[in-house]
Amino acid sequence: MPLTLLKYGLRGRHASFRDIPATPDLKPSYDVVIVGGGGHGLAAAFYLSTVHGITNIAVLEKGYLAGGNTARNTTTIRSNYLTTESIRFYKEGVSLFETMSEDLGFNVMFSQRGQLTLAHSEATMRSFHLRAEMGKHMGVRTEVVDVKTVRAMCPHLNLDEGGMHEVMGGLWHADGGTARHDAVAWGYAKRAAERGVEIHQRTTVTGFRKDGDRVTHVVTDRGEIAAGQVLQAVGGLNGQVAEMAGFKLPIRCFPLQAMVTQPLKPFLDILLSSANMHTYLVQSSRGEIVIGGGSDPYQLASTRSTLDQKEHLAEGVLHLFPFLHKVKLLRQWAGITDMTPDYSPIMGASPMRNYWLDCGWGTWGFKATPVAGKRMAETIATGRVPDILLPFDMRRFDNFALLNEMGATAASH
Ligand SMILES: Cc1cc2nc3c(=O)[nH]c(=O)nc-3n(C[C@H](O)[C@H](O)[C@H](O)COP(=O)(O)OP(=O)(O)OC[C@H]3O[C@@H](n4cnc5c(N)ncnc54)[C@H](O)[C@@H]3O)c2cc1C
Repeated sequence: MPLTLLKYGLRGRHASFRDIPATPDLKPSYDVVIVGGGGHGLAAAFYLSTVHGITNIAVLEKGYLAGGNTARNTTTIRSNYLTTESIRFYKEGVSLFETMSEDLGFNVMFSQRGQLTLAHSEATMRSFHLRAEMGKHMGVRTEVVDVKTVRAMCPHLNLDEGGMHEVMGGLWHADGGTARHDAVAWGYAKRAAERGVEIHQRTTVTGFRKDGDRVTHVVTDRGEIAAGQVLQAVGGLNGQVAEMAGFKLPIRCFPLQAMVTQPLKPFLDILLSSANMHTYLVQSSRGEIVIGGGSDPYQLASTRSTLDQKEHLAEGVLHLFPFLHKVKLLRQWAGITDMTPDYSPIMGASPMRNYWLDCGWGTWGFKATPVAGKRMAETIATGRVPDILLPFDMRRFDNFALLNEMGATAASH
């Protein structure tokens, strides 16, 4: 046994181990204030402090670290979108996940097991061909597969031959995967904190003080602080916080629910989704089946889960895997998603010069955590929006330059 380990073991008192330092007092001013301590805010803090050397940063989080949508998501990671702009962006996101554990020195359990989206109609198959071609063109591993291949990939699946939801084929995306959501947030937080970034939990932003087209101060329930630059990344509350800053976002809030079963022996080693049935499922490393679907069909800023949605999701899963009918559900939960009209995020400039936006992540933003963090940090550090983010500018809604990803987002997230 090494001597240091022996000495450590024999010592009576041990300093308590903390990944994240306790919330300090607020300083009077910061170079950058990040509103929202979810995955996106923390990733931006990480890249600002490690790549750009900006460390006088406060991350302000009204609850606990990454307790918003980051904590509630089902962790689908993929890049098989429809438009070239989105594919380029999410492809960079997937590549950052591939090296994340190593880059952070923190195991985020990235599991690149591939995603299969099922088609139950000719129309869906046609749309899959288009997405596969777009993906191939952009260097993403996406291809249309026939029923025989679906059966080989997923031997327990009910193909419903001759039935209402007959499987006609699928869209296979070998780059798809999952990662441990809290590990991603904690990894970024830990490494940013080591560089001197202050993470203020239980600190709610309640308003902003402005001088012309600049924000001068961020007002919180713990006092006011001067800010050189501000990044807004507050998940489901993006519309509300933008209004505090004095402008409106083209965003509406819808609840999105998910649920998880008791652990089972491994039977599903890919991510599986059915666009037509609005259901997707993945078996976690603990054996639980994580089940999700589309947003609730009404606007609401609530995290309450409902029996209706539980029944809807159960119906879809039982259709795909009838043998799960006796499996018990352990938990069901909801998040508030910030949806844009074109199912694409808003990143970059706001109507104020030193106030940046990373929002509109709706039902699909976990996979973008590293790339949004990296590229928003670059934006803040250089004062210039990088080309890869330009298509996501808020002004696209005024310029008829929408990035319609509705079909490619659907229940695949
Ligand atoms: C059920 C569900 C399943 C999902 N599944 C997937 C999926 O499979 N794949 C995928 O890519 N995406 C998925 N998503 C979407 C994904 O979770 C989000 O897009 C992503 O987590 C957004 O991260 P964020 O850091 O921007 O927001 P959040 O994680 O919500 O962080 C924002 C933080 O801001 C804080 N905040 C809010 N207001 C204030 C304030 N006034 N002052 C201070 N702090 C404030 C909140 O407390 C919160 O912690 C899912 C979402 C849900 C709800």
